[in-house]
Amino acid sequence: MKGWLNNLSKKQIILLLSIILFSVFIIIAGELLTPKKATLELSDFSYKKSIKYNADKLGVTGKNLAKELGLDISVSKNKPINQLGVSQEVFEHSIEHLLGHKDATIKYYIYFVLFIFAFFYLINLGKPEKLDNKYYRKKYPRAVYNIVLIITVITTGFLLGKSPNPMESGVKVFKTMVGLYPDPINKVMAFIFFIILSVIGNKLICGWACPFGALQELFYSVPIFNKIKKVKLPFILTNSIRITIFIIMLLFLFGIIGDKKGLVIYHYINPFNLFNLDFDYPTILAVVVISLVGGLIIYRPFCNFICPFGLISWIFERVSIFKVRVNFDLCNKCNACVKACPTEAMKGIIENKKIYADCFSCGRCLNVCAKNAIDYRGSFIINKKN
Ligand code: SF4
Ligand code: SF4
Repeated sequence: MKGWLNNLSKKQIILLLSIILFSVFIIIAGELLTPKKATLELSDFSYKKSIKYNADKLGVTGKNLAKELGLDISVSKNKPINQLGVSQEVFEHSIEHLLGHKDATIKYYIYFVLFIFAFFYLINLGKPEKLDNKYYRKKYPRAVYNIVLIITVITTGFLLGKSPNPMESGVKVFKTMVGLYPDPINKVMAFIFFIILSVIGNKLICGWACPFGALQELFYSVPIFNKIKKVKLPFILTNSIRITIFIIMLLFLFGIIGDKKGLVIYHYINPFNLFNLDFDYPTILAVVVISLVGGLIIYRPFCNFICPFGLISWIFERVSIFKVRVNFDLCNKCNACVKACPTEAMKGIIENKKIYADCFSCGRCLNVCAKNAIDYRGSFIINKKN
């Protein structure tokens, strides 16, 4: 980290300071501009009043609250809840769960700031101009990435809680289609926010700003089981499982299978609950533990096997503007980058394939190239190195 800072050129220092100033400005402006909402507590809700009364207070639709209460979403919303066969315990648990989903608008500003840093780090700051290429190959400054990941886990994770997050934004877009939210435009906007950033800088949100992605990345960085880590899971397998889970989610949500519409299976395996220390179902805890312990040897198990946003943003990778690009005039096919990459992405990129595994913009491949043939850039920027 110190070596990285000491070797930045004057221009790079100015860029770094500008990013820091801009970030501080964005966060302060965001905090000042965000309207403060009254904090609701369990005591503000009534078991003896209707679904409609409680749902209005929560800012969710009656269908959404009915779903949380384990009722069919077509149930009468005007009857008192205690007359619908719901126990007080289930009622309180459902209210607490929905309160845990309250939006923390400031988190969007933090996601944006993390995105900006990651973007400039990959296209410029990650290669200190005072050092030559040999240095990178031996001693690439991974410390910077790990420090940003720790900041991500603390800020967009434990400090600000589970919502909003990229995974939920993807799921909520589909939930609006069965009428589970009174404000579909807001949900769609949240999804568009994450997707636009993922398209500008390929999957940068997943690679640098998502708290559960960052946590898995940190576990994977622990220098143990290095020999096993060299074995990469076939993308065809991981992606097939991820697509299958996504299709099952849609079938349940739209009531094509199961006895009621509106069921969201991700709800039972949502690892972001970790950031609210809220483990509603044992399956959530199991997914967190398996993803993190498994993450010591497998690269981001949750992202690659399950996450719907991971799947959607992988589809959008085809149109990403800035991403890892190879100058094939310089590349001598030594495969150093393929070995450094924790997924099958670099293999696909170097073979110039149209469809390849997720690239999480982790930056590992960027500096291992002896020919300096890899850059993070837009297709419209010509690589002049020769
Ligand atoms: S794929 Fe991973 S990093 Fe991306 S949103 Fe899902 S959990 Fe987060
Ligand atoms: S090492 Fe792989 S996942 Fe990381 S940026 Fe390079 S191609 Fe993407």
